Parts: sequence; structure tokens; C-alpha cells
Amino acid sequence: MLGGLARWLRAAGYDAEFEHGIDDSVIVAAALETGRILLSSDGPMFERKVIRDGQVKALFLPRQLNRLEQLAYVVDKLSLKRRPPRCMACAGELQELPKHSVAAEAPPLAYRSCDRFFRCKRCDKLLWRGTHWVEIDARLNEILK
Ligand SMILES: [Zn+2]
Repeated sequence: MLGGLARWLRAAGYDAEFEHGIDDSVIVAAALETGRILLSSDGPMFERKVIRDGQVKALFLPRQLNRLEQLAYVVDKLSLKRRPPRCMACAGELQELPKHSVAAEAPPLAYRSCDRFFRCKRCDKLLWRGTHWVEIDARLNEILK
């Protein structure tokens, strides 16, 4: 349920990880090991000792929130600030590329209409600042002031 939230957190510049259908104990162990903050709408998860004791920092997300409400809730509770955007697919850092260097690789329409191109350092995906990115950016600006 939180996969959409993870994508938005990445766009806001956070190294958010999301895995579907993995066991609670695996998630908790991973958070303990990496020091990541665990986000979940699963009540029983918060009864685990490592979370109650504060060894794993965790935030409970009310279930009724939609994706952008979830984002606003997390931003507020964790006092998140805007960071350089990360890849929405994998949370990798983005490296800006000179436009001419992607002429052969970028789709022709994107190449004609966009000026800024980036490559994900983790998954190698080519991204460009098109209308979708601009829309996401505007929503993030409303939520992360
Ligand atoms: Zn990526």
C-alpha cells in the first residue's frame, strides 16, 4: 500500500525503499540493521519490542490517507526538507547530463521539448524534466515548503 508513497519520497530526494509482500520481521530486521525509519500502516508491527524500545525508529501511517496525504503526513512528522530528486523507480542518485550527449538515446519528442536530462546512477535509466516531472515538482513544492 505504501509503494506510491515510496516513489514520492524518492522524488523529494529520500532514499526510500519499498518491498511488496515481505514479512514484518524481515522489514524490522532491515530497519534495525540500516538505521532506516520504518513507515507502516500495520498496527501489530508497532508492538514489536525493538520498535517499542526505540531501537527501530518507526512511524505509523493512518490507513485512510491517500498517497499525497501520506506524503504530507510523513513530511510533517519527520520534518522532511526538499532534497535533490532521486530516481522514482529505484531511489538512485541522479546525474545531470549535457543535452547533446543523449541525442541518440532520448526519445525524439523528449529531446525536442526538454532541456534537462539525467541518468540514474543506480539503475542507469535516462530521465528528463518533462511535463510529468514538472507536475510532480509542483505537488512537492506544495507539500514540502
Ligand atoms: Zn534508478
